[in-house]
Amino acid sequence: MTEHMKHAPDGAFFGAFGGQYVPETLMFALEQLTREFETAWADDAFHAEFDRCLREIAGRPSEMYLAKRLTEQVGGAKIYLKREDMNHTGAHKINNTLGQALLAKRMGKTRVIAETGAGQHGVATATAAAVFGLECEVYMGTEDIRRQALNVFRMKLMGTNVVPVESGQKTLKDATNEAMRDWMGSCEHTHYILGSVCGPHPFPVMVREFQTCIGIEAREQMLQAEGRLPDVIVACVGGGSNAAGIFAPMIDDEQVRMLGVEAGGRSLNLGDHAATLCVGKHGVLHGAKSYVLQDDDGQTAPVHSVSAGLDYPGVGPEHSQWKESGRVQYTFCTDDDAIDALMTLSRTEGIIPALESAHAVSEGMKLAAKLNKDAIILINLSGRGDKDCNEIQEILSRRQ
Ligand SMILES: *Cc1c(COP(=O)(O)O)cnc(C)c1O
Repeated sequence: MTEHMKHAPDGAFFGAFGGQYVPETLMFALEQLTREFETAWADDAFHAEFDRCLREIAGRPSEMYLAKRLTEQVGGAKIYLKREDMNHTGAHKINNTLGQALLAKRMGKTRVIAETGAGQHGVATATAAAVFGLECEVYMGTEDIRRQALNVFRMKLMGTNVVPVESGQKTLKDATNEAMRDWMGSCEHTHYILGSVCGPHPFPVMVREFQTCIGIEAREQMLQAEGRLPDVIVACVGGGSNAAGIFAPMIDDEQVRMLGVEAGGRSLNLGDHAATLCVGKHGVLHGAKSYVLQDDDGQTAPVHSVSAGLDYPGVGPEHSQWKESGRVQYTFCTDDDAIDALMTLSRTEGIIPALESAHAVSEGMKLAAKLNKDAIILINLSGRGDKDCNEIQEILSRRQ
């Protein structure tokens, strides 16, 4: 246990995971943020304001859609999709950035920063910054800048400065390092809008809470549609925020099975995937103890995924606890299977999913095929695939 851990409040841990493994300079900012979040989350006026933002800016509630043609094609359980792809800016990320931007305002901060992989969190942060009149800088690896040119342009259009990150693999982990470095020197006037249920306390709790609108809505919608809860919920897991958002409100409903799907990439050789919970080990990354992909020397391993949003060697600490308690099962889906699922959903339902979400669709379809027609599967469709079209086009042309 490091020196800083002495300061970590009880709520900072999920069993053996979580905590605040950060330099002393960030402790003040984390304590201030924890206080502000706890006060705001207990305040009806904050909830009213947050709910209004979710409605008016994000376009919530999102639909829960029975995918009839996909269900018929698979020939097993009924498949429902929670349509986070229909949110403004195209993914679930906006739920969290609106919540954190409101907190930044409450704390009197004038500038926000963020890391981004696929660019979805960057775009959602840029959007919230524009709406609330905050200065905004987003750190992004140059490899991701290449893969996600459209999202880079969207951020710039909304007045955000995109900072290219050249270090390491030039992807999400490296962008997160740079954002944390910025925050160490700027936290007096800057709030760091972290994009997933990762990082030091209070981020894993706070981001989960801002994302629970997904599961709270889905629970109600499922009871309306079917008079009962789903048998299984499936969600993709990068850092784990869309999964936590749909799992958490039904985590005490023991009859509901939960499946998290990680990026299986090209193979399960180290460096070829991002299946952190499936093959990682206990470690510390970006301020929290959790599962981490590491080599034999304990160095954070390089990662690969066809989807930039899952391309991360860490995972939120609460998922590590859910894995070890057995409450949630975790599996992986390969690049190829994700692309096949993307094509299947596009053709059967007219929905082009994000490559990240396609990982959940693929495993959801495989599971549905094994279950009978009375069973119900709910897949969290975390985002839409417009951002991925260039990448998919390239991959398909290489396949021929
Ligand atoms: C960022 C992203 C993810 C992965 O992040 P989580 O925190 O694991 O949800 C998944 N799907 C989409 C569409 C994303 O943009």
